[in-house]
Amino acid sequence: TSVDTVMEEQEYLPGTPLADMVLAANVGSPADIPLIQNFKAQGVGLYRTEFLFMGEKLPSEEEQIEAYSKVIAACAPHLTVIRTLDIGGDKKAPALNLPKEQNPFLGVRALRLCFQRPDIFNVQLRAIWRASAAGPTAVMFPMIATLEELEKAKELLYLARDEVINEGYTVGKLEVGMMIEIPSAAWNAKSFAAKVDFFSIGTNDLTQYMLAVDRENNELMNLYQPYHPAVLGMIARVSQAAEKADIWVGICGEAGGDRLLAPFFAALGIKELSMAPGSLTHVRQTLAKFKFDAEEKRRFVESVLDCATVGEVLEQLKRI
Ligand code: PEP
Ligand code: MG
Repeated sequence: TSVDTVMEEQEYLPGTPLADMVLAANVGSPADIPLIQNFKAQGVGLYRTEFLFMGEKLPSEEEQIEAYSKVIAACAPHLTVIRTLDIGGDKKAPALNLPKEQNPFLGVRALRLCFQRPDIFNVQLRAIWRASAAGPTAVMFPMIATLEELEKAKELLYLARDEVINEGYTVGKLEVGMMIEIPSAAWNAKSFAAKVDFFSIGTNDLTQYMLAVDRENNELMNLYQPYHPAVLGMIARVSQAAEKADIWVGICGEAGGDRLLAPFFAALGIKELSMAPGSLTHVRQTLAKFKFDAEEKRRFVESVLDCATVGEVLEQLKRI
């Protein structure tokens, strides 16, 4: 064995961050499959399906099955997490001809739109079930603020399952999760945890909604801070709720690919970091350097959560 292989084996020994965590990729279409492979992603933690819907025409059930199952098959035996449609906000869909809104990020976005257009949502849910036969698959719902929304989304999901099974199609076992990206859902994570198999924290929107800063506004970039102690404290709260309910939690916003935050997430017990494929190498190298025992983890997490400012947080993150 080469020196490299020996190093790698040590990095994955039980109790080390890399042994306890999955490093997965965020993708938007089967065109990203070579990136998943080149950067050795352990599956896909966020498949942004809205790109399929951004053309002049809506994708058919068959077109969606093809787009999903190619990625699922390429990732097997690792998991592919498919996020249902998140149109609205920054993501436009000309084919849907949506009315202009005054506050699109607070408007008819994602699941809210899917509930208004059950015809479109049903086709996507059917396609996800049928594609799930291609390998390990999970589905997750974006932009959930209330428990009723989760319950309704799950109800529609299982109705779609009954439909395709009655039509004679094969379906796989589907893990069912939700994104935590709205502060109300994060705060109430405990009530949601009992109803899903996993949480995936969307730090891009969670940061935007917690700090009331438009994620797209360059004028406010200094205020748009996933390092804000309130954001990290909320993530810790979600992670504790998940642990108590015995479900796994991942991070799929940009913070998931942040080298400074990776050891903090490892110490918190986050099970998956999903990121732009290009960030995987650096995050893997960073985590390979860490070996904490339970007491060190606890102290490190506490030192970060005790901070009052972004500056103090950065100091703690850099100290380790
Ligand atoms: C997020 O909000 O963090 C997220 C991963 O979703 P998106 O960036 O697609 O809104
Ligand atoms: Mg989001």
